Amino acid sequence: MFDNFLHVSIPGRAVTGGLISADIINFRDFGKGNYKQLDDYAFGSGGMLFAAPQLKAALDSAVKNHESLKPFVIYPSPQGALITQEIIETLSHKEHVIIICGHYEGIDERFTERYVDLEVSVGDCVLTGGEIPAMMIIDSMSRLVPGVVGKSKAVIEDSFYRGMLDNPNYTRPAMWEGLEVPEVLLSGNAGEITHWRRRVASQRTLTRRPDLISRASIREYLSDSVNIAVMIESESENANLDGLYELSRAYDLGRPYIIAGNHELRTSMKAKYPEAKILGSIKRMCEEKENLLVIKVFAGARVNSNHSLEIKRMCLEHDGEILFLFAENEKKLEVLNGISGYIYGRDINIPLNIKIGIALDKFLGKR
Ligand code: SAM
Repeated sequence: MFDNFLHVSIPGRAVTGGLISADIINFRDFGKGNYKQLDDYAFGSGGMLFAAPQLKAALDSAVKNHESLKPFVIYPSPQGALITQEIIETLSHKEHVIIICGHYEGIDERFTERYVDLEVSVGDCVLTGGEIPAMMIIDSMSRLVPGVVGKSKAVIEDSFYRGMLDNPNYTRPAMWEGLEVPEVLLSGNAGEITHWRRRVASQRTLTRRPDLISRASIREYLSDSVNIAVMIESESENANLDGLYELSRAYDLGRPYIIAGNHELRTSMKAKYPEAKILGSIKRMCEEKENLLVIKVFAGARVNSNHSLEIKRMCLEHDGEILFLFAENEKKLEVLNGISGYIYGRDINIPLNIKIGIALDKFLGKR
């Protein structure tokens, strides 16, 4: 089974190109006695199981083949955690992944307990053996190795990479059986095409797999204009905005707004945070700007506030500018237009810059 898999198509090219290497260990070589016995009756149920001593001998040999590398042992099994792109990403950073393929009833539980680092399932169905799950794991890990897939951008845009589904794709002919390719894709307008792809990918994920949204990194799916505004009243420790610009940049946001009613404070903020846009009030922007989604971020939940998952969903559904609004004195947020979100279940007094970092990670970052 593996011979073919490791010599054809993309994994095959990755192996011949030296981008990945895979050793196939024949478990039979570690069998006991004349019959090279590997399995035995399961106590109590009578099914056949791979026995722990033989499994340990095979594992030792796999480890010894690459002594300088730290091994990480996976056992594909229907009882494992459901495999996800996040697990594959983690595995792709390991030095040496050893996959144990079970058969029959599986393997002796004591071996799993002692030597398996991760038990993963490839779906809620039962296969006859662990080889196909192992190939699936190798295949998806290899796609993440730079150079294995021709265009690395393609990997980033695939389903699950940022935690979202991909947009639908079309090729020639532009008209087939009366079905047309969406016009925008033929327009040649790169900006409009990107916008269309983001919108369709968002809608698909929202309708088909809303469960993915909580884990997804959604920034790329929002409009170019996503900003932070912070209302401050003092220069106290709680109003610390150090790192505000860097945070904005890290999440690909525009220059942050600092709002201070007091003239002196504005002058001092201008000197301290030259990258920020300093305003006297944000009220007009919140009330008058068309198609602006204002998210007022509180430390803790309050009446009418939305769970972070709801905020993410609303951001994805909104086709336009988004403003995350913070305040040193959160009471000032209550009178402004906008929807409310929160970062904790209860109010906690923490410096503004930390609050902003947590909020951006919670609403825009990947889980
Ligand atoms: N008795 C086991 C149970 O019910 O959990 C099923 C054993 S199954 C018939 C034999 C082997 O196939 C397992 O040891 C495992 O390696 C592999 N396997 C079967 N289904 C799998 C799945 N959904 N995910 C990963 N591996 C699976």
